[in-house]
Amino acid sequence: AKATGGSRHCFYSPAMKEDARTRLTLRRELQIAIDQEQLFVLFQPKVDCSSGQPEVSGFEALVRWQHPEKGLISPGIFIPTAEENGQISDIDRWVMEQVLEQLGEWVQRYQDRVMPVSVNVSASLFSRAHFAETLLEMLENAAVPAHLIELEVTEHVAMAGFHRTLETMQKLKSMGVSLAIDDFGTGHSNLAYLREFPVNRLKIDIAFVKGIELDAKKQGLVQAITDMAKSLSMDVIAEGVETDAEREFLQSVGCTCYQGYLFYRPMAAADIDLLLKRDGGQ
Ligand code: C2E
Ligand code: CA
Ligand code: CA
Ligand code: CA
Repeated sequence: AKATGGSRHCFYSPAMKEDARTRLTLRRELQIAIDQEQLFVLFQPKVDCSSGQPEVSGFEALVRWQHPEKGLISPGIFIPTAEENGQISDIDRWVMEQVLEQLGEWVQRYQDRVMPVSVNVSASLFSRAHFAETLLEMLENAAVPAHLIELEVTEHVAMAGFHRTLETMQKLKSMGVSLAIDDFGTGHSNLAYLREFPVNRLKIDIAFVKGIELDAKKQGLVQAITDMAKSLSMDVIAEGVETDAEREFLQSVGCTCYQGYLFYRPMAAADIDLLLKRDGGQ
């Protein structure tokens, strides 16, 4: 099972995802990774350009796996497998704990200059009984105010089972936790549902952002999403913004919040510290 042949970074290539033996190895190693803390979290700043100048307005937590022999493995490789085999709940909970611990430190160090952190939550965790109550307990244990956490759930998660989802979302809202619909536009959203859900923000998927200035279909879609968000009193943010041309077009249709390499890459917590210090004028 260890005969990789090529570069160690390519051991878990997307093409091998279908291979059952590889998946089993991945599952076993992922459990070790969770237990032995081989996972770590990076933070990608989000910026708000509504004032003309880009201002950091928050961060997204993104998990990484530093494998002792195989090097850095990206979540695009192991998250899909973890979603299939149920390990994703353990990963998501671990990431939430790390984020809360980090936020706890930042709150002590920077008080009200701390900005919210978004955490990706997959279906199996979000739809679990008492998810909101468990999160509330974790927030209290970490002494982190709820408004510093935003949950990113995909359309698929949001649209699965109206009543239960609505109930969970309403609990989260009453706790003060924000909600974003991730990868918006790639799934099947029921607009009647969306109207009822206490969602703060729609996140336009990178697929619609890439080369938007050259593609009339993408332009129409993003315009429609932005208009809809406005009429639902939701904020909108575009992910994967890499070029000025993309940003300019997004701005022209009223989308002024961005996340992407044009501004910042995902960064280690220590680098976020420097940002928070700088923005605090210290
Ligand atoms: P996502 O939630 O859509 O996250 C955005 C992805 O786009 C991240 O990839 C980020 O690094 C990448 N990105 C940001 N700016 C740019 C850009 O300008 N250009 C390009 N090409 N990419 C950009 P990453 O970190 O590899 O994560 C991939 C996916 O893995 C995420 O997509 C999310 O679905 C999942 N994921 C990551 N961390 C977690 C986690 O803790 N829990 C769960 N359930 N899923 C996670
Ligand atoms: Ca996300
Ligand atoms: Ca996503
Ligand atoms: Ca995405």
